[in-house]
Amino acid sequence: MHKLRKCSTCNAYTLEEQHCGKETIAAHPPKYSPKDPYGKYRLKAREKQWTNLK
Ligand SMILES: [Zn+2]
Repeated sequence: MHKLRKCSTCNAYTLEEQHCGKETIAAHPPKYSPKDPYGKYRLKAREKQWTNLK
């Protein structure tokens, strides 16, 4: 199982060891965080997905 990593250069989540020509850092599993500008969009997308399942 791959561990989620994050590029400290462009802030993209990736499974690659390298991104933007630099080594990536280990990232926590994606979850909502006020510090994460994409967190709420991810949460919204998940809510939408759950809604569609019903
Ligand atoms: Zn990058």
